[in-house]
Amino acid sequence: MAEIYDLHCHSTASDGALSPTELIKRAHEQGVTSLALTDHDTTAGLAEARAAAAASGIKLISGIELSTSWHDKCFHIVGLGINPDYGPLAQATQNLQTVRLERAEKIAQKLEKKRIPGAFEAVKRAAGDSMITRTHFADFLLSQHHVSTQQEAFDRYLARGKPAYVSTPWAELEQAINWITESGGIAVLAHPLRYKLTANWMKRLLTAFKEAGGQGIEVVTSRISADEIKLVAGYAARFELAGSAGSDFHNPENQWVELGRLAPLPPHIKPVWELLEVQG
Ligand code: AMP
Ligand code: MN
Ligand code: MN
Ligand code: MN
Repeated sequence: MAEIYDLHCHSTASDGALSPTELIKRAHEQGVTSLALTDHDTTAGLAEARAAAAASGIKLISGIELSTSWHDKCFHIVGLGINPDYGPLAQATQNLQTVRLERAEKIAQKLEKKRIPGAFEAVKRAAGDSMITRTHFADFLLSQHHVSTQQEAFDRYLARGKPAYVSTPWAELEQAINWITESGGIAVLAHPLRYKLTANWMKRLLTAFKEAGGQGIEVVTSRISADEIKLVAGYAARFELAGSAGSDFHNPENQWVELGRLAPLPPHIKPVWELLEVQG
């Protein structure tokens, strides 16, 4: 049977709509054979996912998607095959929960200035013990009919440069890569084309990423064109990075993104899962 890898997705431990158990079930239904759960800044969903994966025969790769800062911009680094019990990583996720809670309070204050009260209480209630993300704010704005789509919530309020945007002190890129690699994992640059970098900045980013110990880049993601795959595969080859494939699945309602529904990695690219298998 063909192996189907999906090495990037979210559960209710961060801003995904499905619980880890529901996510594993859906991945299994979609034919995924190896899944990495990569919630934003948390590993809290992994234990439940592991139990569900064992029951359905899926191979679960312990993952995380860390928010990082580099040159004043936010970059997402996926960690694959991490050890969630590694002290500095566990400490970092705990700190990030506080960072996110404090940011949420500031976002809510900014929304209040726009005469949208009650956001902090609502997102705290919705997130429960999970990481509070801007997606929770988007859902709140949607539920209160301030916007008619999640995208509009980002475009009008939550995106950088918009009235409720709060710049956040994420970990430095190099620091986050260290947490991942020192815990036994592989650091992968998530969705490289989403940062809208010039070729020159992309080169600088990948140089810094590689120097800090980064080993992979997401060559295949959802809704990526054949030309874009070629472009990223070129970066992978040039910087000797392994290629990863991940849907970044959040929500079954988004019909454009499905678990495991991904284009194949170009044949000349070393798959990141070969590094994971070596790692054991
Ligand atoms: P945060 O990490 O709290 O800043 O939230 C980032 C999350 O918000 C991302 O992982 C996406 O799931 C979501 N997001 C960011 N930008 C957009 C956008 N323009 N439209 C829809 N969702 C977005
Ligand atoms: Mn997200
Ligand atoms: Mn991301
Ligand atoms: Mn993601």
